[in-house]
Amino acid sequence: MTVAAGSFYDPVNGDFEAVDGESLPHVLARRLRRRRQTLILAGASHVINIALLMLFAAAGTISAALVAAFALCATCKVATFMAISESGLSDRWKDHFLAGPYTATTCALMLAFIYIAPAVAVVFLCTFFIIANVIAFRAEPRRGAIACAIMTGSVVALFLMADLPIVLPSSTPLERTATLLTFAATLARIMFINIFASRLRDNLYRRSAALETAYKRIEELAEVDELTGALNRRSIMRLLDAEVVRCRQNGIACSVALIDLDLFKQINDKFGHLTGDEVLRTFAISIFANVRAIDKFGRFGGEEFLLVLPETSHDSAARMLDRLRAIIEALDWSAFSEGLTVTISAGVATLRENETSESMLARADLALYAAKERGRNRIAAA
Ligand code: GH3
Ligand code: MG
Ligand code: MG
Repeated sequence: MTVAAGSFYDPVNGDFEAVDGESLPHVLARRLRRRRQTLILAGASHVINIALLMLFAAAGTISAALVAAFALCATCKVATFMAISESGLSDRWKDHFLAGPYTATTCALMLAFIYIAPAVAVVFLCTFFIIANVIAFRAEPRRGAIACAIMTGSVVALFLMADLPIVLPSSTPLERTATLLTFAATLARIMFINIFASRLRDNLYRRSAALETAYKRIEELAEVDELTGALNRRSIMRLLDAEVVRCRQNGIACSVALIDLDLFKQINDKFGHLTGDEVLRTFAISIFANVRAIDKFGRFGGEEFLLVLPETSHDSAARMLDRLRAIIEALDWSAFSEGLTVTISAGVATLRENETSESMLARADLALYAAKERGRNRIAAA
């Protein structure tokens, strides 16, 4: 099941929570679950407000009809958003929670009831703190700041324009209790939102730390260079060290060659990076096809490669490299692009007594430099 391009917001590719390869029905079901959860919590918050208003009604501060009116409005609001959510209609928009419209409706409801029932304005005013907290937790900072500014502005405007007799009801013990409970219930809800937010942040932090560790491990396990199929630098260096130890223990020769593609930057510039990549791949395949099973070939970096030649004397290594050089030069590179030619240069070094692999590599590198200096497309021995 796919979404027609442009028909509406693409929930799979646009959903920041979507896991790679997650199917559309899966994404939609997860989003619906989360909307349902959010609306149930919003409904529960209204139930708390209704209970507080009932207490004020019992204390005689407001009429029971007013409580019923608020309960009706709040229920209609939550039910409408629940219906839109359940129908899947809101999946058409990026903000599938309809957080903007929901917040605006809630604010309008609170403002209307501050106006209708200023005697219990404390209940509705306190709700603004909860709304501000939800905004701070969910909305991106700029939008959140704008929403909070609009919210504060509308409360201020209502206060200035309506000239309402707003008080904290506290003339009877029950009124005082209801007012105190209003504060307590507000603090509890704000605490709940913040604890939820901080747990979410902790979870995200833990997951990203776990992902980072897993990624490092994958990198360690990967031995092959993605582009060329040659061993990557870490692997070829490990194999070189192992070969050096083995050859030294057994008293046998070990040679290495650092191979570099000639004027490769020009190839990229003239024929494009993609052709450059093809050249690297073809070069690597050609080397693989023309070395022995015991030889190890890896990408040292960029267009530079390392060939480890165990049990190979200096002369054999130089001969072998010159054969490889001739093979690369003779390939019909124009099949990739008209006028393309590729040559390589290499520096060959053979392990000396008590020499480290680093020092042997450094000599091979110097020899490679000499080969380049002498005009490229040649092999130089250290
Ligand atoms: P020289 O004969 O002296 O080695 O000259 P060069 O142009 O080959 O050497 P230089 O170091 O100036 O340029 C190497 C180029 O190799 C530059 C870089 O963009 C390119 N390169 C490195 N890795 C890749 C790769 O994975 N793909 C492609 N297409 N190009 C790469
Ligand atoms: Mg080069
Ligand atoms: Mg190079």
